[in-house]
Amino acid sequence: MTASVIDGKVIAAELRSRVAAEVARVKADHSLTPGLAVVLVGSDPASEVYVRSKHKQTQEAGMASFEHVLPADVAQADLIALVQKLNADASVHGILVQLPLPKGLDTQAVINAINPAKDVDGLHPVNAGRLASGMDALSPCTPLGCIILAKSVHEKLDGMNAIVIGRSNLVGRPLVQLLLNENATVTIAHSRSRDLPKLTAQADLVFAAVGKSEMVRGDWIKPGATVIDVGINRLPAADGKSKLVGDVAYQEALKTAGAITPVPGGVGQMTVACLLVNTLRAACAINGLKAPAV
Ligand code: NAP
Repeated sequence: MTASVIDGKVIAAELRSRVAAEVARVKADHSLTPGLAVVLVGSDPASEVYVRSKHKQTQEAGMASFEHVLPADVAQADLIALVQKLNADASVHGILVQLPLPKGLDTQAVINAINPAKDVDGLHPVNAGRLASGMDALSPCTPLGCIILAKSVHEKLDGMNAIVIGRSNLVGRPLVQLLLNENATVTIAHSRSRDLPKLTAQADLVFAAVGKSEMVRGDWIKPGATVIDVGINRLPAADGKSKLVGDVAYQEALKTAGAITPVPGGVGQMTVACLLVNTLRAACAINGLKAPAV
């Protein structure tokens, strides 16, 4: 049997159109235009692509999009001063500082300077702590997208065995917390874990967020399991260009999994859509409105 392919493109487009409908509603009912400010430091080509895509999708959802580009050699104090200015700007409800920052800048200090109410990347320690405590929080966008994709296959994740491979603050750790909130039973694996194939074989839900091309092999996967591949790895292709592959050996996994996300076209599509959700949520919360229906 071949696994069904979870189409992140379609699911993300549906989510973006629900966000756009809610943005139109809060504009009409409350004269509120949610606004997202993105700060790009330096000229990393991959980051520039991400920032352009965020700008376009924010505008398409009917929100205000503010872009701030600073030189790679900007002083830490000047970057933090910009974040503080955005914290005080009533037209900005979400602040995202594009990571990674150039060498020499203190990433954690910059994240700590963001008002947690506007921290749409969900990386501020207040939001990480609230999420870990089971409280309402702005959660990181990629893990939010992973949960939506898993729930496109399983209405409820209640009692399912999940493995999260990777424990970064950006993906693995918040994903574990979100899965616990869904009442899944979670195993967290990382570079020191022993016998990863055996651990993975016990899971009904496999989330791979490692950053190693095709590390998770098809024969690790329990027959019928749902596989969400977060990895984005660039490999040289035969035509001299490059191709993207995930952390899961896709062709092998297609033969054992019940459902699987492709790379590209899976999790990556969801990340920006969830950023729009977070910006809309932040705008409503800051203005004392009830949470939007997205
Ligand atoms: P990261 O910060 O480098 O973390 C990687 C994690 O994988 C670490 O926890 C590490 O363990 C673990 N790991 C490394 N080698 C391992 C091994 N051999 N066995 C088991 N675990 C291992 O990466 P990240 O930011 O979480 O990103 C992970 C991947 O997701 C990357 O490919 C990235 O490009 C992709 N990504 C995609 C999106 C998207 O929108 N689709 C967003 C973010 C990231 P230790 O903690 O022990 O070092």
